[in-house]
Amino acid sequence: MDCLFCKIIEGSIPSTKVYENEHVLAFQDIAPAAPTHILIIPKKHIATMNDVTREDDLAIAEIFAAARHIAKEQGFDEAGYRLINNCNSDGGQVVYHLHFHLLAGKKLGALLAE
Ligand code: 5GP
Ligand code: ZN
Repeated sequence: MDCLFCKIIEGSIPSTKVYENEHVLAFQDIAPAAPTHILIIPKKHIATMNDVTREDDLAIAEIFAAARHIAKEQGFDEAGYRLINNCNSDGGQVVYHLHFHLLAGKKLGALLAE
């Protein structure tokens, strides 16, 4: 399958890994939009938020658990952070493998740029 994030999971495209378990992988975003910008993805290929089913409950819970774990480990859990999913064209999705942006390290300002 020609999917960038599946290739990152396989290791055929390199990434800077932050956290990994059986269900999820977290790695540094290549173009950080904040001092901390980490992508958290399920190891199963799911194209968009619309394609998540109840069979994916565990993987989705593991994405949230990974975000909490990373926030605590990197020490920004109390200061705060933002977890974002972009879905399809109007949401600004560019890579069609489900991912959540974990942003932190500064006051993040308004949710929407425009
Ligand atoms: P989207 O707009 O689909 O929600 O976000 C895709 C994200 O993937 C962007 O923040 C972009 O910087 C990141 N990205 C795109 N290509 C690569 C890559 O090859 N490696 C990494 N680590 N991140 C990437
Ligand atoms: Zn994929």
